[in-house]
Amino acid sequence: MAFKRISDLGDLTGKRAVVRVDLNVPMQNGKVSDDTRLQAVKPTVDAVTAAGGEVVLLAHFGRPKGHVVPEMSLRPVVPALANILGREVGFISNEDFDKYVANGEWHFPLKPVMVLENTRYYPGEETNDAALAANFAKLGDVYVNDAFSAAHRAHASTEALAKLLPAVAGETMGAELEALNNALGVPEHPVVAVVGGAKVSSKLAVLENLVEKVDHLIIGGGMANTFLFAQGFSVGASLCEKDLKDTALRILEKAKTSGCNVHLPTDVVVATEFKAHATNEVKSLDKVLEGEMILDAGPDTVAALSGVLQVCKTLVWNGPMGAFEMEPFDAATVGLAKAASALSDAGSLLTVAGGGDTVAALAHAGVKEKFTHISTAGGAFLEWMEGKALPGVVALEQ
Ligand code: ADP
Ligand code: MG
Repeated sequence: MAFKRISDLGDLTGKRAVVRVDLNVPMQNGKVSDDTRLQAVKPTVDAVTAAGGEVVLLAHFGRPKGHVVPEMSLRPVVPALANILGREVGFISNEDFDKYVANGEWHFPLKPVMVLENTRYYPGEETNDAALAANFAKLGDVYVNDAFSAAHRAHASTEALAKLLPAVAGETMGAELEALNNALGVPEHPVVAVVGGAKVSSKLAVLENLVEKVDHLIIGGGMANTFLFAQGFSVGASLCEKDLKDTALRILEKAKTSGCNVHLPTDVVVATEFKAHATNEVKSLDKVLEGEMILDAGPDTVAALSGVLQVCKTLVWNGPMGAFEMEPFDAATVGLAKAASALSDAGSLLTVAGGGDTVAALAHAGVKEKFTHISTAGGAFLEWMEGKALPGVVALEQ
């Protein structure tokens, strides 16, 4: 993993950095309702300006699919961003940009920090068009990619542009890549992976990759049911992909030949209704009845898995251990999360997690701040767990 950072660019006086960021924030009634992604932009803007440089931020917003869709303008994001950056932020509309590209002159003075309108207003963005990238390149002298969450897409602002200007990783992207590299790239062994969530089918590639890389694989959540079924246990009315029986067995076989220990629940929490506070029972695996659904792993399982975590140095986690949105079926997820965070706190376990529901589950368990790194990049994080090369990252490495 060899990529440059902003500090490698040296003095940036008189130079402008074109910085790809993630401004795809949730909005409610025209206002930003969660500014986590905006906060992630600050370290890079501060680093570039501290080095004497100016900034033009590039980002997409929603899916306008190459058309100007006024509801998907980045303009309403600017005040919230200015607030977080603690400085004035200018805006470049697509008309302003088109004029500049046509005659090479701005018809107004640029501010030290600017935001360009939604990159996906241009059809060339998603087709990784070289001509559009060349126009983006006219905005500055160096390129900084700080949007890990968009790095799994080869788009003009994430890939083609990186080839046209000196390209480096931004502060947030750099920290993310370092954490991920420590977790699966060149991790300290033993490595344990927790893969949970609803379905095996959505995470097949993740499982296939992990069994070859990690020492222990904990399979939890709904996807564990498919593995238990494949092993001959009755899973009653549980969420289960019975047609994936052979696939599950093949993954278990591959794990065996790769020296990966697979851990499945040994006791489970069952209920006959899929709702919070449904009447429930903890039972051993072989006792699940016809109409019962496995909604969580049981306490013996959590205790055993906590023991696995204890002998490991590195943990990577995607997917909850049960239907954590409904109490008390959050118990295994919360229990294992607390065990992980205690070890992380004590310095014996590096803890990296990601995934939309996983982040919510870890926040619910109150351990979000205690993990070494939590990735908020949904698709990019999963593709990384699948072992795929991310085009936006590869472009920085060249
Ligand atoms: P992520 O978004 O972190 O990648 P997933 O989307 O794969 O995670 O999975 C999260 C979902 O899996 C949650 O909605 C959770 O309720 C569900 N789930 C976990 N365990 C079970 C189970 N035993 N039965 C039904 N749903 C489950
Ligand atoms: Mg999800």
